[in-house]
Amino acid sequence: MKDSNCIFCKIANGEIPTNTLYEDDYFRVIFDLSPASKGHALVLPKEHFSNVFELGEEEASRAMVVAKKVATALKEITGCEGFNILQNNGEIAGQTVFHFHMHLIPRYSGDGVKITWNHGKPTDEELKELTARVNEVLK
Ligand code: 5GP
Ligand code: ZN
Repeated sequence: MKDSNCIFCKIANGEIPTNTLYEDDYFRVIFDLSPASKGHALVLPKEHFSNVFELGEEEASRAMVVAKKVATALKEITGCEGFNILQNNGEIAGQTVFHFHMHLIPRYSGDGVKITWNHGKPTDEELKELTARVNEVLK
């Protein structure tokens, strides 16, 4: 399903022309309009899913395969020293376009890209409780 108000639906389905790094029946991979680094690309499903939670297992698996394939090509052509593959879900997590996408971000020394957080110190008790609750949901 497509969402007629969604810019990434239009791009993924070729209604808005763009440089296409990779395309198959399910995905289009394009360059980010405002890249974090040289070669920053986005993996877009052609179908509209707002976020990772709306993806089926099949789509999720396919997305990772596409991400790895294009990241490998980008690594080869840019000669980058490292790579971030990430995606954001929800405004609080930094999502600004509400059509599932994966960021492919080649990393270079001195590139100024910041993907960081403060490292917490959970108690054993907290981790035990969270583990039990997740295990329960996944049963
Ligand atoms: P998010 O913040 O949702 O994880 O990522 C959205 C990304 O999409 C941003 O990095 C932004 O630069 C990029 N973006 C937003 N609009 C467009 C567009 O029209 N074309 C392309 N190629 N990228 C876009
Ligand atoms: Zn969409």
